[in-house]
Amino acid sequence: MLARWIRPWRRRRRWRVCEVVTSIHDLPQQIPYGEAVLVANGRIMKWLAFGCPCKDDHQVLLNLNPSIHPNWTLKASKPLTVSPSIDELRGGKRCHYFIRDGYIDWT
Ligand SMILES: [Zn+2]
Repeated sequence: MLARWIRPWRRRRRWRVCEVVTSIHDLPQQIPYGEAVLVANGRIMKWLAFGCPCKDDHQVLLNLNPSIHPNWTLKASKPLTVSPSIDELRGGKRCHYFIRDGYIDWT
C-alpha cells in the first residue's frame, strides 16, 4: 500500500515523447523506460512506440492514424497523455493501463 504512494514521488521523471522519427523503420531497438518515440511525417502522426511499463521487455506500438482501427490519440507529448487506455493481451497476460499526464495508471 505504502509503495503505491511512494512510487510517483520517487520517480519524478514523467513519461514523455523523447524522439521523433519519420519512419517506423527508424525506431530504436530499445527505448528507455519512461520514454516514447513518435513516428511522424510532417504534421501527420503515424505511430507511438515505447517499452511496456510492465517492464516485461516488450514493445508497444500504437497506431495514431485515425483512418485505421484501432487507433489512439496523442493528447500531449511532454508529459505524455494517450487516449484511450492501452489494453494488450499476450500469452495469458494482460497489460491494461492509462498514460495520463506522464503517469501510468494500471486498471
Ligand atoms: Zn506489458
